[in-house]
Amino acid sequence: MTRPLTGEPLALDLVNSVWVDHGRRLDQFDEPDGLESWLADHDMSGTVDADSDTIRDALVQARSALRAALEDGDDGPLNGVLAHGFHRPGLRGGAPLVATVVDDPAWLPAWTAAADLVRLLTERPDRVRHCARPGCVLWFYDVSKNGSRRWCSMEVCGNRAKSERFQKSHPRR
Ligand SMILES: [Zn+2]
Repeated sequence: MTRPLTGEPLALDLVNSVWVDHGRRLDQFDEPDGLESWLADHDMSGTVDADSDTIRDALVQARSALRAALEDGDDGPLNGVLAHGFHRPGLRGGAPLVATVVDDPAWLPAWTAAADLVRLLTERPDRVRHCARPGCVLWFYDVSKNGSRRWCSMEVCGNRAKSERFQKSHPRR
């Protein structure tokens, strides 16, 4: 089972690692190589010095925290995740460099994803949105010029929502 989409910013791509397919809730991290491929998709494969169960636990916790912040307006869990690390600005060879410091290496991917939501909400809070199709649990970052994006993916939810609307307005007899 592959995920319906990728390509959202890190924070939302973590949120979207749980999705609904034919009424079934699926979790990428339940797949045998799900964690590894998620890390690889975000250039973090092999860079985290921790065992995969601990990395996954941290990511699952960060994912719930992201959902709590986005869907319930509850900031507490996300701030809890962010308490595991910080950005430390510095110089290397005279060039600016921002290092991510975490209290436990296993938290690096989770902390980075949580911090990414803060970045998105700093840059364009109105562009962080939930897919408009009822029943879809996915989030996206609308980078379109006029900000009119409504679906996680046109191919999946856009077309489905259109055909559902069509069926409603043209009931079969
Ligand atoms: Zn959708």
